[in-house]
Amino acid sequence: MKKLNILLFVLLLLSLSLLRAQSAKPEPKLVVGIVIDQMRYDYLYRFESLYGNEGFKKIIKDGTNFTFAHFNYVPTYTGPGHSCIYTGTTPYFNGIISNDWYDKVTKKKVYCVEDKSVNTLGANDKNGKMSPRRLLSTTITDQLKLATNGKAKVISISLKDRAAIMIGGHMADAAYWYDPDTGNYITSTYYMKQLPEWVADFNNKKLADKYLAMSWNLSYPLDEYVRTLPDAEIFERDVFSEGKTTFPHTFKNVPMEKRYDVLRTTPFANDLQFDFIKAAIKNEKLGGHNNTDFLAISFCASDYVGHDYGPNSVEVEDLYVKIDSLLADMINFLDNSVGKGKYILFLTADHAVAPSPDFEIEKKIPGGWFNPRIVKDSLFSFTEREYHKKSLIENFSNLQIYFNRKVVKELNLNLDDLENVYANYLRDNFPVITQIFKRANLEKQIAGRTNHNFLLNGFNPVRSGDLLFGLQPGYIFEKAGEVATSHGTLYSYDTHVPLLFYGWHIPSQTVNTPVYTVDIAPTIADLLKIQEPSACIGIPIIK
Ligand code: ZN
Ligand code: ZN
Repeated sequence: MKKLNILLFVLLLLSLSLLRAQSAKPEPKLVVGIVIDQMRYDYLYRFESLYGNEGFKKIIKDGTNFTFAHFNYVPTYTGPGHSCIYTGTTPYFNGIISNDWYDKVTKKKVYCVEDKSVNTLGANDKNGKMSPRRLLSTTITDQLKLATNGKAKVISISLKDRAAIMIGGHMADAAYWYDPDTGNYITSTYYMKQLPEWVADFNNKKLADKYLAMSWNLSYPLDEYVRTLPDAEIFERDVFSEGKTTFPHTFKNVPMEKRYDVLRTTPFANDLQFDFIKAAIKNEKLGGHNNTDFLAISFCASDYVGHDYGPNSVEVEDLYVKIDSLLADMINFLDNSVGKGKYILFLTADHAVAPSPDFEIEKKIPGGWFNPRIVKDSLFSFTEREYHKKSLIENFSNLQIYFNRKVVKELNLNLDDLENVYANYLRDNFPVITQIFKRANLEKQIAGRTNHNFLLNGFNPVRSGDLLFGLQPGYIFEKAGEVATSHGTLYSYDTHVPLLFYGWHIPSQTVNTPVYTVDIAPTIADLLKIQEPSACIGIPIIK
């Protein structure tokens, strides 16, 4: 009788706990966010003849494909891009107005993630003195931490410090990035006191050296690369000091001390990172806990290759062919380690890229280079002529003029009038400059979800300058010859990015209504039924 009573009691307990498990909200085991640095939307289709069926094509077929996803602010750079995706807002609120900007308080240029108060873990250099302290709003990764009382594990990984840090948010268990001086994956004391053993073990294997011994060969015969220009174009950079820009590429001529750095401009950087990701999933047991975990990843080799060879190069096409097969391997790995249908994966880019201005000129497409030096020199000599005080302009950077407020007062000038004078000067002297916005006008408005005003969305009332401008389509604000191409503008080639969701509770559909990258974080929040990030201005877009 006593035994029967105990049995009944145990059964009662079991059924109660089963009931509780059933009534708890359903949630995925893991969210995997993938950012591919500089990936244009059209790469999903332009290179598809060389893609397999298990990478991009599988995600498109089985998931939700937003074919018209855009960034809604300028400048479209890496720091702001990763911040926007994870904060669901723009520089107006999250404060990341560029990769580097002029800091009015210290009167110095600052890098978006630099933080001298922390130290490097994983190498003996300065490359780990970084943290998310300049990011002014919370991320979706922070919100998952807040929703689970810190229990959800959040790990972010990228080749670039600023990418890993922005997507990890303020509360990540760890953000890891690649150190171009040692070939190690490193982090900072912002996140932890000591590097986990598995990371130290990973670095001790010196896997980067294994890749440096290999050469970058094409995945298919050259004549199958039909959507790009011939292999050698005048504007391609000789990254590997080979005296040529054709395949194969090897590290043989690259000075020893530069090799870990140059590794970033090859598909091997993605392979090395995938090795690290697998080690992270395994050792941190991501997707193996009671709560949803978050693995935020950013692949950045595509940005280095894109800058040096341009979006019409065989190098870029081959890199994406290799990214496609890496994605197939990653889905396979996640299916095996976390479980098919048990994780949400999303894929997007932090910005896209312009065609090379040299290519545009050759093909009679409007565009070209616009050397910042010319504008800067002209602005300072105008200031000297008109006001006899060069220091009236405190700084000129990121297509913004910062006036020195003390000098404005000293000279008895009115800031609004001054903005008008300089706006007129730019208008009269530089026909390449189109949009000109004055602080006086921007401060009367507030950022919004759509792309109604790219400059307003990218303007931060505290950190930005007093006069902001933009260039005509096709123009890049850089000196010719330093890169093959770049990004940063409000035009579709820079703002239109892929946006794919796949896995847990994601329907198979193609949606061509306009959506914005600020919508990604609230969509994940909606799927997980958690609060969206603090300054989020996007909306959930998965119906
Ligand atoms: Zn980028
Ligand atoms: Zn870039």
